Amino acid sequence: MRTLFIGDLHLSADRPDITHAFNDFLDSQLDDVQALYILGDLFEVWIGDDLAEPFAIDLAKKLNTISKTIPVYYIHGNRDFLLGKDYAKKAGMTLLPETHCIDLYGVPTVILHGDSLCTLDKGYQRFRQFRNLKLAKWIYAHLPRNTRQNIARNIRSKSTRSNMQKSVSIMDVEQNAVAALLDKTKTIQMIHGHTHRPDIHEMSSSSGVALKRIVVGDWYEQASVLSVSAGKLALSVLPFQK
Ligand code: MN
Repeated sequence: MRTLFIGDLHLSADRPDITHAFNDFLDSQLDDVQALYILGDLFEVWIGDDLAEPFAIDLAKKLNTISKTIPVYYIHGNRDFLLGKDYAKKAGMTLLPETHCIDLYGVPTVILHGDSLCTLDKGYQRFRQFRNLKLAKWIYAHLPRNTRQNIARNIRSKSTRSNMQKSVSIMDVEQNAVAALLDKTKTIQMIHGHTHRPDIHEMSSSSGVALKRIVVGDWYEQASVLSVSAGKLALSVLPFQK
């Protein structure tokens, strides 16, 4: 049996090829799978469950069917942090907190989207603090649909522009934040996405304990999957079917 981790699919109506690839993945890659974890940014942008687009509603139906046999877990990303209980319920996904600890075949593991580890990005961290306030979420949810659609468009174009200007090191995780989270959660393995830099990093703690940080890849050009079974980790990419 194995457990799969994916993230950063950035599904949107503009990229039907990615949605198609995700459907293929769900149809063909879930043999022997005992759980599927989606580590955030399943959607490129999410402005409220009441404004879910038709492709997202279709996907919810499919995920819901799958969730009857394979539990599907979801952690918010920075693009779809407004995905709510209604959509999660429709999709049969269990919403997990921002950081969540699991026993992964005997290895204490912390899983998260990963944006909270990019602590050198001060502007973004300030936005995160604001965004996570219940009041900010409440106000946003009560704005008219048009206003929310405009806000989402602005956030998208601004984040695209500012990401182009930020240096590569700022956009990656900060090692101190990684060490602090492993320490705080008493785990020895971390799995996250967000940075779009798939890799398995091995390191050791200050007391010499072997640690691992696994980064799942994005789905812009190909499907990216982390498969974990007892004693085995495999990052793989699946080309999009033409
Ligand atoms: Mn992200």
